[in-house]
Amino acid sequence: MFPAAFDYAAPATLVEALALLKQRGDDAKIMAGGQSLIPMLKLRFAQPALVIDIGRLPAMNGIARHNGHLSIGALARHVDIERNADLAWLCPILVDTVHWISDPLVRNRGTMAGSVCHADPSGDWGSVMLALDASLIARSESGERVIPADGFFQGPFTTTLRPDEIVTEIRIPMPKGPAGGAYNKLERKVGDFATVAVAVHVELSGSKIAKAGIGLTAVGPTNIKATAAEKALVGHEPTDEVIVEAARLAAEAAEPKDDIRGTAAYKKDIVRVYVLRGLRTALGRAREVKA
Ligand SMILES: Cc1cc2nc3c(=O)[nH]c(=O)nc-3n(C[C@H](O)[C@H](O)[C@H](O)COP(=O)(O)OP(=O)(O)OC[C@H]3O[C@@H](n4cnc5c(N)ncnc54)[C@H](O)[C@@H]3O)c2cc1C
Repeated sequence: MFPAAFDYAAPATLVEALALLKQRGDDAKIMAGGQSLIPMLKLRFAQPALVIDIGRLPAMNGIARHNGHLSIGALARHVDIERNADLAWLCPILVDTVHWISDPLVRNRGTMAGSVCHADPSGDWGSVMLALDASLIARSESGERVIPADGFFQGPFTTTLRPDEIVTEIRIPMPKGPAGGAYNKLERKVGDFATVAVAVHVELSGSKIAKAGIGLTAVGPTNIKATAAEKALVGHEPTDEVIVEAARLAAEAAEPKDDIRGTAAYKKDIVRVYVLRGLRTALGRAREVKA
């Protein structure tokens, strides 16, 4: 299928891009890697009058540690995360997740920020951002906004981003103590979107869990933060009983539907099992950091 006709602009600077967006916000669409936008245009689910290609904006693809957080530029592609040697120890859940995203063709062009802004409830990065308590930095001509991932997703393909805003960066807080994470995904075949996937992050203080994050993929109208399950972990020793209860609560937070990929009951049970597995992996990784 061919997209409806649209105008195309490739601004050279962020200032230029923001000015264009301010003028044409309601009938314009930002394009980063185009890996979700172009299919949406072809299917005519999106018919913007103007596509603003931000792919060539300078200095927006960095991955660096700054003042207690990990900063991922909005133009950092999936492949940049895959190949970044420091992330394997700084934030291993990112490296776990990136391998599950589609295939090298998509990973070579698509960006993490683009995936989060696309807000597909089956997108993998959204859950990881919820588990890690990440924030998005959004710029417009009026200034900068820090938007916590928790609350960003309003519904399928819908976020709190305003039409005149561009996300420039994603910030992930660096853990204060030993930490670990894991991403487990069930898919029908390699490169497919998730039937169910679960992101888990834990931070330890002594023998207790100081912080926990759990994000659920493809089991509701948005990526879901399993808040009750997180609360059931914090302040406790990670005993089997505590972990089993957190997994039960996470499954309770899931709102899957019967579809071609499985029944709602099956998907809820996969959430439970993957939270158990994820917590055991994440705790193991956190203890290795400690050693
Ligand atoms: C064949 C195929 C398989 C896929 N499999 C998976 C998978 O297994 N798991 C998964 O999670 N994803 C999968 N995807 C989706 C893909 O990984 C991401 O959605 C994609 O990489 C988004 O990044 P992008 O840079 O290409 O965004 P684009 O397509 O350019 O943009 C996507 C949306 O985000 C907005 N946007 C992008 N960047 C910004 C920004 N900086 N500020 C504001 N708005 C912005 C755009 O306006 C658009 O609405 C797949 C895609 C394809 C084509």
